[in-house]
Amino acid sequence: MAEKSSLGRRLSRRFVAGTQMDDVLQATQEVNSSGCSVSVDNLGENVTSREEVQRHAELYHRLLDEIAARKLNANVSVKLTQMGLDVDEKLAHDITNGLVEHAVRDNNFVRLDMEGSPYTQRTLDFVRELHGKNGHQGRVGAVIQAYMRRSESDVEQLLRERIRIRLCKGAYKEPPELAFQKMPEVNENYIRLMKMLLTSGVYHGIATHDEKMIAATLEFAKAQNVPPDAFEFQMLYGIRRDLQRKLVQGGWRMRVYIPFGAEWYPYFMRRLAERPANALFVLKNLFK
Ligand SMILES: Cc1cc2nc3c(=O)[nH]c(=O)nc-3n(C[C@H](O)[C@H](O)[C@H](O)COP(=O)(O)OP(=O)(O)OC[C@H]3O[C@@H](n4cnc5c(N)ncnc54)[C@H](O)[C@@H]3O)c2cc1C
Repeated sequence: MAEKSSLGRRLSRRFVAGTQMDDVLQATQEVNSSGCSVSVDNLGENVTSREEVQRHAELYHRLLDEIAARKLNANVSVKLTQMGLDVDEKLAHDITNGLVEHAVRDNNFVRLDMEGSPYTQRTLDFVRELHGKNGHQGRVGAVIQAYMRRSESDVEQLLRERIRIRLCKGAYKEPPELAFQKMPEVNENYIRLMKMLLTSGVYHGIATHDEKMIAATLEFAKAQNVPPDAFEFQMLYGIRRDLQRKLVQGGWRMRVYIPFGAEWYPYFMRRLAERPANALFVLKNLFK
């Protein structure tokens, strides 16, 4: 109901570029003009029908075509449950493989977003399998969540295969057996993993809005003589735009993750849950 209401769409606009492909292409152009690259995400997850999966896949192919045609500095982020992982694993594999092949032809890149823990192993298996195919090296990458206790050994394995990683804290509710629950523990792990990535010689994404994580990354990069073009920071559309600008002005690389599409509700709710002040922000706009 929220997704279909015009009020809902207006409220989500701060974090979601719009519902149509043109909306996100325009937002990408604007973000590119401010000196940042982009990763585009077509919202949708836990898709349950083949038709819907095919629709999402076609849209991603069109997106890659438009990015190439308009010469945008952008890649795409994809969720496996949107590509049919819950419907048929082979279908999800064929579709994702088709997207990576498209990215190879266009000299572009596909990031497989990381979802909740029931999907962690399968997502990493997908990335490794796709990355191992002829010509796919450097064209498909993984996401590691610092709150997961297993992440250090996952990073070691991905680095052995020189797979590009986006490091984030993690956005899902996970049980204590699997994930650190206290923020200081998550942060400590984030910094440990960030150091492994920055010294790996592979191009990775440091995805966070946390000034402490960013300061630790800058300090480590400078101390280890890691040049600014050896990795990128990543942030979400509409969040800490001041910090995005500051890092770009300081000569660092920044990629903005821009979601779009009608199915914005789960994404939007995760952003509100991360920061209760956002709910206040949304409420204020409601009254405005
Ligand atoms: C580019 C990118 C891709 C991501 N991909 C994934 C993924 O594939 N899988 C996954 O599980 N998670 C993903 N995430 C989400 C991530 O795991 C965190 O949930 C999210 O980034 C918040 O963590 P933080 O590092 O910003 O630190 P936090 O400690 O949560 O926040 C630090 C500070 O950042 C600011 N901030 C953080 N979140 C918000 C917000 N919603 N609104 C306003 N300000 C905020 C606030 O100032 C806050 O004090 C991604 C994040 C980014 C930036």
